[in-house]
Amino acid sequence: MADAEKRETAAGATGLRWHKVLLKVSGEALMGSRGFGIDPAVLDRIASEVAEGVRLGARIGLVVGGGNFVRGAKIAADGGDRVAGDHMGMLATVMNCLAMKAALVHRGVPCVVLSALVVPAICETFTQRAAVEHMDAGRVVLFAGGTGNPFFTTDSAAALRAAELGCDALMKGTNVDGIYSADPRNDPAAVRYETLTHQEVLARDLAVMDAAAIALARDNGIPVIVFSIKEPGEFVDVLRGAGRATVVTG
Ligand code: UDP
Repeated sequence: MADAEKRETAAGATGLRWHKVLLKVSGEALMGSRGFGIDPAVLDRIASEVAEGVRLGARIGLVVGGGNFVRGAKIAADGGDRVAGDHMGMLATVMNCLAMKAALVHRGVPCVVLSALVVPAICETFTQRAAVEHMDAGRVVLFAGGTGNPFFTTDSAAALRAAELGCDALMKGTNVDGIYSADPRNDPAAVRYETLTHQEVLARDLAVMDAAAIALARDNGIPVIVFSIKEPGEFVDVLRGAGRATVVTG
């Protein structure tokens, strides 16, 4: 059976291969072609794709990064304080989640922001119980503030939330269409993988997510699907088990 046919079979009656997913969108993806901040057109396109996933029946959690504003490691490399920089990075994720929430609300998608950093004036505080209740009630849950701790990334937050919510898959929307043996932007000989195991990603030190995130996904049996969020329609294709992606399984 051809790959496409196999995927179609796996999709079943709802048309979805993956039913409860944690989508990680990097801050950089929201930036579009700008050097900083949020491109409203990109934000709205991603929101429309999440809306389409919801319409198809998927339950979706969303972790948004903050690299379009600030990263603690960069602040430290420039001589600043790492922990303060990480706090700033986590606040950037709160800003991105507020923007994404507004874009989803604009499209009529029920959603809520839960933040691991306590900012009660603007969003609810994350608890696993609240996240499960909101998701069970059919809301898209936007997880802000990363893990709430410095020295972590939003990739780790995404793996953590995927495990806490019992998601079928962790989907990482990046700027490239999967995992490569080397950076395809610098190395024309770079090979793209269709499938890998978590262990292979770790052993080959493939730069797709930080090792803590991959190890957490591995230990909890969560497949990681890496695809290009820049490609319109790709998120929904990947939800259906089609599309162009690298699938990492145990
Ligand atoms: N951050 C943190 N703890 C977390 C998640 C994020 O300290 O649990 C900080 C860290 O400085 C990080 C920044 O927030 O660089 C933005 O997150 P990330 O770099 O993961 O964003 P992305 O690359 O996905 O845009």
